[in-house]
Amino acid sequence: MKIVVVGGGFAGINFVKSLSHDKQFEITLVDKNNYHFFPPLLYQVATAFIEPSNISHPFRRMFQHKDNLRFHMGSLIRINPENNTIETDTGILPYDYLVLAMGTETNYFGIEGVAQKALPMKTIDEALVLRNQLLMNMEKAVRAKTKEERDCYLNIVIAGGGPTGVELAGMLAELGQYTAEKEYPEIKDFGSHIYLVDAGPVLLAPMSTKAQKEAAHVLEKLGVNVILNTPVKDYRDGKVFLADGRTIETNALLWASGVIAREAPGLAPEVITRGRRILVNEYNQVQGTTNIFALGDQCMQLSDPKFPKGHPQVAQVAIQQGALLAKNLKRLKDNETLKPFRYNDKGSMAIISKYKAVADLPGFSFKGFFAWMVWLFIHIIPLVGFRNKMRLAFSWMWSFITNDPTLRLIIRPNAATIQKEKEAELHNV
Ligand SMILES: Cc1cc2nc3c(=O)[nH]c(=O)nc-3n(C[C@H](O)[C@H](O)[C@H](O)COP(=O)(O)OP(=O)(O)OC[C@H]3O[C@@H](n4cnc5c(N)ncnc54)[C@H](O)[C@@H]3O)c2cc1C
Repeated sequence: MKIVVVGGGFAGINFVKSLSHDKQFEITLVDKNNYHFFPPLLYQVATAFIEPSNISHPFRRMFQHKDNLRFHMGSLIRINPENNTIETDTGILPYDYLVLAMGTETNYFGIEGVAQKALPMKTIDEALVLRNQLLMNMEKAVRAKTKEERDCYLNIVIAGGGPTGVELAGMLAELGQYTAEKEYPEIKDFGSHIYLVDAGPVLLAPMSTKAQKEAAHVLEKLGVNVILNTPVKDYRDGKVFLADGRTIETNALLWASGVIAREAPGLAPEVITRGRRILVNEYNQVQGTTNIFALGDQCMQLSDPKFPKGHPQVAQVAIQQGALLAKNLKRLKDNETLKPFRYNDKGSMAIISKYKAVADLPGFSFKGFFAWMVWLFIHIIPLVGFRNKMRLAFSWMWSFITNDPTLRLIIRPNAATIQKEKEAELHNV
């Protein structure tokens, strides 16, 4: 039985792992990257706090000694349900069962200026671009001739007051306080240049009131300008335009505001629903198909009694759906009854700053140092690879104790620039 899985994120990788010893299934994982990565810690890569390798792991390494697993690096172009194949930019693959788990991409809500110039943070590549831009901005701010120019390079506007926006704002404010003031003695007021903007009335909207108040309180204490009830309207000519008429000059609009499921061309239009999510039944089977399944952020499942409007797009849903589908495919093969998906919500957490986090667990909420410790623990456990867990634990320990992470290197690999430099060198010989 040939299974093709498109997307090796939380859902795809948990599905594959659960079948990795079952030789009835020959599994090919297709991903546009050659590594799995852990999005909840991307913001720490973007802020030069940890290295990308701390939160990523190559698929081929994961698949060592697993006879029934193969990796195909490529990006999905089209699904052909009529002949059970998919087209990727690197070849055509046949399947008996197809599992779609491509997650989401950034949603700019049709704002042209934002789509063109804002900095998203959904992938490792984007986190590195963001890191480089923030570091380059600091260099430019130091050299700036006027206050306006300096403000433009120092101001950072973060759009989106969900966990990602809050975590980014907190970490940037602390980096300013602990690190930047030592390394850029020309600049004294980093915290006050950070703006966290949200269209809604509170930060961390899906969390408890206690968590929301704590987030706003801690960030404001760090000097972050929290602006609520105010959507971003546009971003052009180095200015963020807010709905209330205000503008903020900045060279860095960080977009942590919305997501939309990745496209799956070839599926019937009627199965694509709100947020471009693919409509699936209680077994994650795409509506109207028999051998195509969709998991995680990319799917919309309305059959779970506790989540009649669909599940939140979070890691636990993807992990649990991936593991259940693996079991269900074994049941399908053995002609047994399938089990419907029911999400076991284990709660949500967000880190706000050093030693401060908020946690909503089923039945109770807590905050502060204990929540921060629990957050660190919970974010190390699901990382793939023992080495990654140890390295991350060490990086954190070092950075938190010394307040001095050491990754602030501006490295911008660009084949065209390297070629140009080579040509110039040859010319000079
Ligand atoms: C910055 C950030 C912070 C987050 N923080 C949290 C958090 O703290 N807690 C939480 O629960 N959730 C968090 N989330 C959400 C969580 O990461 C997602 O819910 C989860 O990753 C969904 O898993 P998935 O497997 O559906 O998709 P993903 O994990 O997004 O995996 C999708 C995979 O598909 C691949 N892919 C994409 N397009 C193609 C293509 N065309 N062809 C082939 N492969 C493709 C990608 O490379 C990727 O490997 C965060 C997300 C982000 C971006």
